[in-house]
Amino acid sequence: MSAPKPRPEVFSVSPYVGGESVLPGVARVIKLSSNEGAFGPPPGALAALAQVGPKMHRYPDGGMAALRAAIGEKFGLDPARIVCGNGSDDLLALLIQAYGGPGTELIMSAHGFSIYEIAGKLAGCTVRKAAEQALTTDVDAVLALVNPATKMVFLANPNNPTGTLLAQSEMVRLRARLPEDVLLVIDAAYAEYVDDADYDPGVALVDAGENTVMTRTFSKIFGLGGARLGWAYAPAPIVDVLNRVRMPFNVSSAVAAAGMAALAEPDWLEKGRAHNTQARRRLTERLAQAGLKVHPAAANFVLVDFGSAERAVAADMFLRARGMIVRNVKSYGLPECLRITIGTDEECNLVAEGLSAFCHE
Ligand SMILES: *Cc1c(COP(=O)(O)O)cnc(C)c1O
Repeated sequence: MSAPKPRPEVFSVSPYVGGESVLPGVARVIKLSSNEGAFGPPPGALAALAQVGPKMHRYPDGGMAALRAAIGEKFGLDPARIVCGNGSDDLLALLIQAYGGPGTELIMSAHGFSIYEIAGKLAGCTVRKAAEQALTTDVDAVLALVNPATKMVFLANPNNPTGTLLAQSEMVRLRARLPEDVLLVIDAAYAEYVDDADYDPGVALVDAGENTVMTRTFSKIFGLGGARLGWAYAPAPIVDVLNRVRMPFNVSSAVAAAGMAALAEPDWLEKGRAHNTQARRRLTERLAQAGLKVHPAAANFVLVDFGSAERAVAADMFLRARGMIVRNVKSYGLPECLRITIGTDEECNLVAEGLSAFCHE
């Protein structure tokens, strides 16, 4: 018997496992496993969704002109250099499809975001991982992996799941030393949470040449993870490539309306960032008081080191028994750590109390 066989690359990856959201027998789950914004969706986005229903029989504007204009206005960018996607995952995969493929190599950092590896392998690329320094991208280690087959470097800044930030001077140094024909993708999914004056989410490097792309998302601070909306800011030739490889209607009209309303929500960004900075500092302090090691974090989560995989598993079970789900990051090669999303003050208190109790057991 013969059956249809997919390309061999398909079986080189395991299906992605996202943050869990249910615990059997627990009515109110505290979900701190997927770095979703602390405050739910913006109210204006809900109202906008309700309004687009009657026009749902019409195809969306495939070019997303109104949404791109709104993004451009909000962030001071040229809308002609923006491409929208079905989540930023969509755009990351499209870039890999367009610039990668069999015989090419993609570089990421050792604990970089898993989608680069999954999409890279699926496209037939060889994925190389550069060792890190203190869980932070090591530019020299990345450069050491570059060879004539290298086509792309993917870095999340801040990175998930480590939460660490690469200094802008290091990002600039990396770009300067990479060959000009190597595409640098700066994934700035957590850009809006960063409160470091030196930080640039990637705009300056995109503007400085023709070989750097920045990706952003509505899934984190904007509270629209379930809607699936992301965007890329890129040099004109790369915008042209993305517009050829993306599907014509990769963002729905409903999601576009929700996205525009989220951008227009008064004080949403400022409130989200201010809450995150405070709540992250407080949670970090409380976990440190309990005797835990918390890595320095620039995004809306903290990475907590329990010293051993066994203890991390025990802490995870302890929290689950109390209705709290955080993220184990074993698949990222960090089995001794748990990643905890910054939720509301109440949620942060509960997880801090839970882990203090765990440490005193
Ligand atoms: C959450 C996240 C994204 C966002 O993905 P979407 O597809 O836009 O939801 C991208 N990159 C990193 C590093 C992330 O953590």
